[in-house]
Amino acid sequence: MKKFIPYGRQFIDKDDINAVLEVLKSDFITQGEKTKEFEKALSEYVGAKYAVVFNSGTSALHSAYFALGLKENDKFITTPMSFAATSNAALYLGAKPIFVDIKEETGNINEEEIEKHITKDTKLISVVHYAGHSVDMEQVKDIAQKYNLKVVEDACHALGGEYKNEKIGNLKYSDVAVFSFHPVKHITTGEGGAVVTNDKNIYEKLLMFKNHGITKEKEKFKNNPDGDWYYEMQFLGYNYRMTDIQASLGISQLKKLDSFIEKRRYIAKRYNEAFKDNPYFDIPTEKDYALHAYHLYPIRLKDKKRKKVIFEKLRKKGLGVQVHYIPIYFHPYYQKLGYKKGLCKIAEDFYAKEISLPIYPAMKEEDIEYVIKKVLKAFK
Ligand SMILES: *Cc1c(COP(=O)(O)O)cnc(C)c1O
Repeated sequence: MKKFIPYGRQFIDKDDINAVLEVLKSDFITQGEKTKEFEKALSEYVGAKYAVVFNSGTSALHSAYFALGLKENDKFITTPMSFAATSNAALYLGAKPIFVDIKEETGNINEEEIEKHITKDTKLISVVHYAGHSVDMEQVKDIAQKYNLKVVEDACHALGGEYKNEKIGNLKYSDVAVFSFHPVKHITTGEGGAVVTNDKNIYEKLLMFKNHGITKEKEKFKNNPDGDWYYEMQFLGYNYRMTDIQASLGISQLKKLDSFIEKRRYIAKRYNEAFKDNPYFDIPTEKDYALHAYHLYPIRLKDKKRKKVIFEKLRKKGLGVQVHYIPIYFHPYYQKLGYKKGLCKIAEDFYAKEISLPIYPAMKEEDIEYVIKKVLKAFK
């Protein structure tokens, strides 16, 4: 069989399979105890007070923006160097993205550029820890406090990563952090996501939003209950619930997260050693304040004109390389909204140079060696 090494994929073992089987044989396959158990384990892992799980990272982002009060015609500041969901989830609420350019070195939003884009309509800053390397959150927090803005960490790349020696998601510098459990992310539930927060109000809004805006808590009723069956829908929510089947997989996966991060960091170290002196491309950096979670291993070509050919060569050799990301506002939908090419020069240049190499915990030693060999050869 022809070799194929994707850029990322899940790691599933016997314990994961047994955890799922157990739920399938139980009384509740959704809205049972496993979801709550997963939420508790996740909040403890990152050091947050509350966690709420969702059926995707995107629905988690949508819910987070809603719970923070983002609404029609509000503006929010974000990065173009992300998956479209970071921005899309706020478009669902009628808000308008203001794209701030990135830093070449990390691929993260340029923290120093944020302030000059703030206007009276700006309500929120949504940052992405690109590839798993933390944004310098202290700077973001300072700006947010100065202008009374909410802060969202789209931490879909960064579960298990750290900022200033503490886990991302501990909410020292933000109102909420959002995670995804898609199979290419650090842990998986098939599809899934989560929001963590320390704020009880936000927590309660999140719980209602993912269940049609319904509450069953007597103390919260606006009308007199007609009887014991009574529940109330108080705002327009969605069905964004995760099943217990998925949550049981999440619980089992979370136990392995530290070993997953260790393996990702090991692969990155091997790549760094093999590539550090090469004349063809730059490798990812790790700032003093960050512990990189290496969701991705993005390289940046010195000669961007070669990218297309190199990419095709690597694909032909069975490397499932990818590009992260096409700047969000390049997409036709955003172009139609009026965003123009040239808006974020560094992000556009980054896109022109970037290729993501395979990195995931199930990679074997021979896979790592194969990638190193084929990458160096492709440039010769
Ligand atoms: C994966 C991802 C999402 C969306 O998560 P889904 O679970 O696929 O909906 C959002 N933002 C970023 C940065 C991501 O990488």
